[in-house]
Amino acid sequence: MADLILFWHRRDLRISDNLGLAAARERSPKVVGFFCLDPGILEADDVAPARVAYMLGCVAQLQERYQAVGSELLILKGNPVEQIPQTASTLGAMAVYWNRDVEPYSRQRDNAVAAALTEKGIEMRTKTWDQLLHAPGDVLTGAGKPYTVYGPFWRNWQNLVKLPPAATLQGAVGLSDAERGLVDEIALPSAKALGFTWAAPLPLEPGERAARAQLEFFGHKAIEAYDEQRNFPAVTGTSLLSAALKFGAVGMREVWQTAMTAYDACNSDEGRTNVQTWMKELAWREFYQHVMFFFPELAHGPYRDAWKDFPWDNDEEKFAAWCEGRTGYPIVDAAMRQLNETGWMHNRCRMIVASFLTKDLIIDWRWGEKYFMQKLVDGDLSANNGGWQWSASSGMDPKPLRIFNPASQAKKFDADADYIRQWLPEIRHVDTGALVSGKLSPLDLEGTDYAAPIVDHKKQQAVFKERYKEQKAKLGALKERD
Ligand SMILES: Cc1cc2nc3c(=O)[nH]c(=O)nc-3n(C[C@H](O)[C@H](O)[C@H](O)COP(=O)(O)OP(=O)(O)OC[C@H]3O[C@@H](n4cnc5c(N)ncnc54)[C@H](O)[C@@H]3O)c2cc1C
Repeated sequence: MADLILFWHRRDLRISDNLGLAAARERSPKVVGFFCLDPGILEADDVAPARVAYMLGCVAQLQERYQAVGSELLILKGNPVEQIPQTASTLGAMAVYWNRDVEPYSRQRDNAVAAALTEKGIEMRTKTWDQLLHAPGDVLTGAGKPYTVYGPFWRNWQNLVKLPPAATLQGAVGLSDAERGLVDEIALPSAKALGFTWAAPLPLEPGERAARAQLEFFGHKAIEAYDEQRNFPAVTGTSLLSAALKFGAVGMREVWQTAMTAYDACNSDEGRTNVQTWMKELAWREFYQHVMFFFPELAHGPYRDAWKDFPWDNDEEKFAAWCEGRTGYPIVDAAMRQLNETGWMHNRCRMIVASFLTKDLIIDWRWGEKYFMQKLVDGDLSANNGGWQWSASSGMDPKPLRIFNPASQAKKFDADADYIRQWLPEIRHVDTGALVSGKLSPLDLEGTDYAAPIVDHKKQQAVFKERYKEQKAKLGALKERD
């Protein structure tokens, strides 16, 4: 009888190109997967129903995938620190394997699980960095320090040799009926049973199959026009793979291989630039995970000193208007409605609404960061925190005072107001010029309940700049973090 290895799936919900899982299978054919529904995550106040729905869909498909190769995926529920050592010990497992993570909560939890397994004399293997192409510590400055600026990180990262996709799990052996009877497992619950309601279609079907199909579709053609198309929210010019990448429904090495194949197939510099722009986004994803690993304090507050006690207005009514898409700024409201209705928002619009919340409404970026986590299907601590700190100018960004003008953004990226019209049907009839500039006349608004602007962009911009100047002066000789 082969020795049993339990494989703990977390944000790697697939059996293909999974480094840790492939390592487990190499050691023994008897590899049984498990997923633990952790109340520490599910009962937090920043969980998005869309994200739970996507995650459970991925887990359901993962169960099928395990069965198809001769094994199974067990569903556990409870504190992993208790559940995992108990299950491993009951089954007499030789070892428990999992892939590493960068997030502070995960690292703390993993250390506790590891300690509990050690106490029971059960081996664990946790060295694989499956969700990244390069592990934190593998991409360092000449002085051996972590990068805090993206540009040089990208230049170093892109030149490093990347692994090919790992072998897909196959020819595995599952538990005997007697062993199965010993496990305290549950049937996979629905999102509703866990207290989350999500009825709208997800931007991407959950699971490995849909993620791979989407990667193939995007990598085959759309990637070649990515640089030109990615900024227009009315166009589907991006990969829509963010939720799949968040939960590992697709492997990073496979993603990279697809991008490289597209790059090599390009017969123009233009095509190659487009593909490279997409690669740069993958590197942003890794950059934010690396900095979260090295500077876990980012999860709780700003990187730059000037922002540590910034005098935000934090007006709750204005915040509610922003959340609900009732600011009177059409491009901002359209974006917030897209988020609320679909669980996803176009990247250009994420930047616009984040700038608006912090620089126009002068509301602490952490309020927006949390609201995004409560809604986004792809909500991810590192990417979300990175995006918010970039937009608030509180993060590792060499150009600190970036203020977006909603009208100029709409003019440039939604010139025909297609996106605004899609998400704000009540003002669909209004002239494109007015929708884009946000200058809606009383006549335009007659018979609608669309809000008048809740602030004046020009004035707020001046207030914000003044406050920032004062804050910096207050810091006096205090050196900004570099
Ligand atoms: C305020 C703000 C909050 C954000 N919150 C999240 C979040 O919670 N989760 C998340 O995955 N992305 C987040 N992003 C980044 C980006 O908006 C999304 O990754 C992107 O819109 C997802 O669409 P896509 O898969 O079609 O991306 P594509 O344009 O096809 O990009 C490919 C992949 O690269 C990664 N990526 C792209 N842009 C970024 C970026 N700026 N930072 C980090 N990774 C990136 C994503 O994994 C994405 O799926 C945020 C950006 C901002 C400005």
